[in-house]
Amino acid sequence: MSEKDLAHLKNLLLRQRREILDRLQGLETDWQALSERDIEREEEAQKADLTSLFDQLEEQERQELEDIDIALRKMVAFTYGICEKCQKPISLERLEFLPATRFCRKCAPKHEEKQKIPPRLPPRE
Ligand SMILES: [Zn+2]
Repeated sequence: MSEKDLAHLKNLLLRQRREILDRLQGLETDWQALSERDIEREEEAQKADLTSLFDQLEEQERQELEDIDIALRKMVAFTYGICEKCQKPISLERLEFLPATRFCRKCAPKHEEKQKIPPRLPPRE
């Protein structure tokens, strides 16, 4: 994967992350401590203790945030874009569509596709 693709996907992830956080207005103050600036610095991201905040989130949003943070950490560790199940590279098209996905299309759990497809975008194959 080129650095340009990676930077693009990272922007998508950060945008998704911000959108979720924006929805959680009641938690806004707490989340401000975990701004994008922090997640971009690997050490800070790892140190951040999200447990208490996660407890307050809706289950699905919690899952989405976790996946996004996992993906961002994988970028730092150069393991981003590799399927966790079969260890094969995930196609760039799929990553653009589901930047936080942890699995290739073949290995993805059925529910993942449904959950993560943003309604405003048509499905792409
Ligand atoms: Zn796979």
